[in-house]
Amino acid sequence: MRVEIWGARGSIAAPGELTARYGGNTACVSVRFDSGEVLILDAGTGIRRLGNVLARQQPVTAHLFLSHCHWDHIQGFPFFKPAYLASTRLRIYSHHMPRQQLRKTLTDQMVGAYFPLEFSGLSASIEFVKMDEGPVRVGPAEITAVETNHPGGGVGFRIAAEGRVFVYLTDNELADGNHERFIDFCRGADLLIHDAQYLPKELETHQGWGHSSYLEVLDLARAAGVREVVLFHHDPDRTDAEIDAIVHACHEEMRQRGDRFECFAASEGMVLTILTAGEPDRA
Ligand SMILES: [Zn+2]
Ligand SMILES: [Zn+2]
Repeated sequence: MRVEIWGARGSIAAPGELTARYGGNTACVSVRFDSGEVLILDAGTGIRRLGNVLARQQPVTAHLFLSHCHWDHIQGFPFFKPAYLASTRLRIYSHHMPRQQLRKTLTDQMVGAYFPLEFSGLSASIEFVKMDEGPVRVGPAEITAVETNHPGGGVGFRIAAEGRVFVYLTDNELADGNHERFIDFCRGADLLIHDAQYLPKELETHQGWGHSSYLEVLDLARAAGVREVVLFHHDPDRTDAEIDAIVHACHEEMRQRGDRFECFAASEGMVLTILTAGEPDRA
């Protein structure tokens, strides 16, 4: 399983020299398998570059899973080049909202007042699929969802394939004291990407905003026994140096708690390969 980060920023794109290293594009992560399937998690502005890469390898068959429809998770969609190619097959999955509502949301952001080309003008064959309670299967992967704690609702995804587990859980406020369903959902994951937008002190003024602090993410990783945790959905005002300081604070906390898992911050262009059992470990 090859996980690639195309956008790690939350809320709004934040380009500039102070954010160049971790990147300014909003949420988009791809997951690829040896068998060729492509899963896309969220369509923030990062999806534009992923689309450029995929368009060079057409025909494209891709499966898009949206955590929810806040701007930073859908705004890149009109710039996803494969959507303009007749050879593309795109399936867009909805979980917490009906198919028609999801279609309407993506269609509405492309009406004339906002965008020069309408959704109906896209050449790709696009199918909307409602996720049932059970898992969705794509190639070797089995994808399940959990409802997040976020204004307006949303979902996180657990992708199990080839004996390995990757959990993508963003725009999720862990501070409600009801972590059990998230601990269960993340249990034993090889890789967890989680929203860590806030500093612990910022939570005091951001209760109910639907995001977490890095200390809460470490608590979740510890309780769920994950192997690697990646901080995601960086605040748009957070500079590279400030994200470095967050990672440093995490490592200090982990040292004091005797944690054995790994922790780092997501950055654009980062590739995380989760090896299947029996494959030689990373050099
Ligand atoms: Zn977001
Ligand atoms: Zn959101």
